[in-house]
Amino acid sequence: MNHFDYIDGVLHAESVPLPRIADEVGTPVYVYSAATLRRHYTVFVDAFRKAGVEPNVCFAVKANSNLAVIALLGSLGAGADVVSEGELRRALAAGIPPERIVFSGVGKTEGELRFALETGIHEINVESESEIRLLSKVADELGRDAEIAIRVNPDVDAKTHEKISTGRKENKFGIDIDKAEDIYALAASLPRITPVSVALHIGSQLTDLEPYRLAFRRMADLVERLRANGHPIRRVDLGGGLGIPYDAETPPLPDAYAQMAVEEVKHLNCEVMLEPGRMIVGNAGILLSRALVVKQGDAKRFLILDSAMNDLIRPALYNGHHGLRPVVEPAADAPYAPVDVVGPICESGDTFAKDRSLPPIEEGDLVAFSSAGAYGAVMASTYNSRLLVPEVLVDGDHYAVIRARQTYEEMLGLDSIPSWIGTEHGTDAERIEATG
Ligand SMILES: *Cc1c(COP(=O)(O)O)cnc(C)c1O
Repeated sequence: MNHFDYIDGVLHAESVPLPRIADEVGTPVYVYSAATLRRHYTVFVDAFRKAGVEPNVCFAVKANSNLAVIALLGSLGAGADVVSEGELRRALAAGIPPERIVFSGVGKTEGELRFALETGIHEINVESESEIRLLSKVADELGRDAEIAIRVNPDVDAKTHEKISTGRKENKFGIDIDKAEDIYALAASLPRITPVSVALHIGSQLTDLEPYRLAFRRMADLVERLRANGHPIRRVDLGGGLGIPYDAETPPLPDAYAQMAVEEVKHLNCEVMLEPGRMIVGNAGILLSRALVVKQGDAKRFLILDSAMNDLIRPALYNGHHGLRPVVEPAADAPYAPVDVVGPICESGDTFAKDRSLPPIEEGDLVAFSSAGAYGAVMASTYNSRLLVPEVLVDGDHYAVIRARQTYEEMLGLDSIPSWIGTEHGTDAERIEATG
């Protein structure tokens, strides 16, 4: 459920008409709904409470790392799951206390591990033998103890898109569950390291509970073996990955997911950590764009928007589906026809949808891509030297710009031309000045 609906024939975010945001902030622009964010977070936490566990929910910051989004979830009690020093700094800047932050990721640098230890975060989830050794060295140098989770790879097929599947043996993530006992023994033998937790995350956009059940069961068996080996395992981290409805898929409801998870791990009496990302923010955001050109080719009709793959890359990267609605509600009897919805970038991959059945959309009309709150703005780039897309957060009848549109000065200001280029003839600017 979300809060993007037609009111009197105009698409709104909560009580704010989208044309108002388009006029005042410009397009393209991401628009998030605070009410939807609050609702998704609360539904998720309550599902676990109803199933009999008080969960420790660490929002996966990589899904949407805007400071305002992290801060809003933090104000509801969420912690943060981060995968880089940059995300760790974002979580801290958004006011998440270090003891509610978990650091995941398959390759962390020595500098990142040092920063995490100095900050005193809740847990570092390590994913390889080399990382455990490096962490021990850094912890020893700093004179700090590190309680860690080891991310295991349970070798289950999450049955999701191959680019977001992470829990099979052939994926780069985690330590083979068969080798886990040896690795825990190694970890426990190293200075300053105490393994207290087992973590897993088998993929994203899961629409089936069975892979989860299998993974959690393998994890619970491992916890019992590790305890028998003398390791004080106090926590399990079940990862994220719950899918959302983008199109026709019907992912499990949070209640069913929580019930199943609790069934599999409750007997361990561990602290239960969760790292949802997409499920919290995915349907809490849209990408608002304007139609630039409607082009009738020989074989096809094209709708060319002012947003492109640099603003929202999921369709190009994963064949991701996003619903598309005109901001002005189409008449009940509007004729629908197939259209290719594309951006202006010089690549054929810059296609949002092929043969999408749409009502008439004219040049200048506003349209909204739905389900764009997760893995949208965070993956935006400046490809084709397009300005980094802005973000807006709506709450009831008001909104705030939570990331301003980048300016051309900011974009160009990151580059510099070394003095040994163009000294003979001067840069364009100097030439213009000299001849001016
Ligand atoms: C990406 C990721 C998540 C969040 O996944 P979603 O599908 O967005 O819920 C959680 N944990 C880890 C370790 C991740 O890499």
